[in-house]
Amino acid sequence: MQTRTDPLPKPKLGEPYLLTPGPLTTAYEVKQAMLRDWGSWDADFRAMTASVCDQLVAMAGDTAGEYTCVPMQGSGSFAVEAMLGTFVPKDGKVLVLANGAYGLRAAETMRYLGRAYTLIDKGDYMPPRGDEVAAALDADPAITHVIAIHCETSSGILNPVAEISEAVYARGRKLLIDSMSAFGALPLNVNEIRYEAMVSSANKCIEGVPGFGFVVARRSELEAAKGRSHSLALDLHAQWAYLQKTGQWRYTPPTHVVAAFLEALRIHAAEGGVAARGARYTRNRDVMVEGMRSLGFETLLKDRWLSPIIVTFFCPADPNFVFADFYERMKAKGFIIYPGKLTVVDSFRIGCIGRMDEHVMRKVVQAAKEALAEMGVTSAAPPEAALTERAKLAA
Ligand SMILES: *Cc1c(COP(=O)(O)O)cnc(C)c1O
Repeated sequence: MQTRTDPLPKPKLGEPYLLTPGPLTTAYEVKQAMLRDWGSWDADFRAMTASVCDQLVAMAGDTAGEYTCVPMQGSGSFAVEAMLGTFVPKDGKVLVLANGAYGLRAAETMRYLGRAYTLIDKGDYMPPRGDEVAAALDADPAITHVIAIHCETSSGILNPVAEISEAVYARGRKLLIDSMSAFGALPLNVNEIRYEAMVSSANKCIEGVPGFGFVVARRSELEAAKGRSHSLALDLHAQWAYLQKTGQWRYTPPTHVVAAFLEALRIHAAEGGVAARGARYTRNRDVMVEGMRSLGFETLLKDRWLSPIIVTFFCPADPNFVFADFYERMKAKGFIIYPGKLTVVDSFRIGCIGRMDEHVMRKVVQAAKEALAEMGVTSAAPPEAALTERAKLAA
């Protein structure tokens, strides 16, 4: 399956590709980087942490030293919770922009924090627009912060963070961004889109393994955040202060994950950074979407809103199509796909991120074609209800 020689480092031969938005398929070199133990206190590991943080701040486009990076142990949600708990004052109020599971999770996090928030819930995938944000901020002067999801991974929609940022700062409020599934592949340059802090994690577009998240934040905001956190372990200011003082994470770091992430960053840079990573994922998406459409599948989103991260397809209306069966057949052919998260119609998702290229995506389409034939599905066309649903989305 992987006999072609090309410069893209490959996962180990025989493993299925993870067409999932993290954990995802990583390069063999990334896995190999974990075959060594590191002392968390040792100068070598401290230098690794410093290098990771420096590279992430540079990836966000900061050259003026205005931004800083704080890593946080755990999955991405731990870092989101740390960001919200650290940057939103106890008497602050957050406007949460939701159009899927991750936006709703941010709202749920605010509920747990016991801090004030208000929610714009656009349903399964409709994008929150700048003018709606403006209206909500005008209507409620108590709102201090807005949280937006960059790519809402539950549908794959790319939310319009630039227009949201403009609306937020035109009204003197502050923006926090969950760029978990976009950072590293889509630009989120501090000189182009204004924000106070953004959060992402090791196992998304930078193609590391799971184990920590990180927040890139305006230094002055972080300095002002001392003592705000609801949580001892998730206090980003305390983590940062300790890192500044000692070069160490405050509590046990995921040493092997950090080592793997450094290798992932090296590969990311060698590939050509954010632009090249984004271009490869875009090509992955275009080849895969075109192929799936040629089989009769339809995407949930119109082209304008499709991200190069993950794509939602409607399940075919053909009664012979059973998702669990399709999933197992795709897996047997070497591809792990992802169930959908829509509430109205059945769907599934195919990720475009991870250590794979357009040649792999062509094989994905071929596998889907064979799976449909084996199941006796003659048409991959979705039910009428799906198209009615999609018609709601503006072009
Ligand atoms: C992956 C992801 C998260 C974090 O999810 P975890 O399962 O906690 O890693 C948060 N937001 C978005 C948009 C994501 O894609």
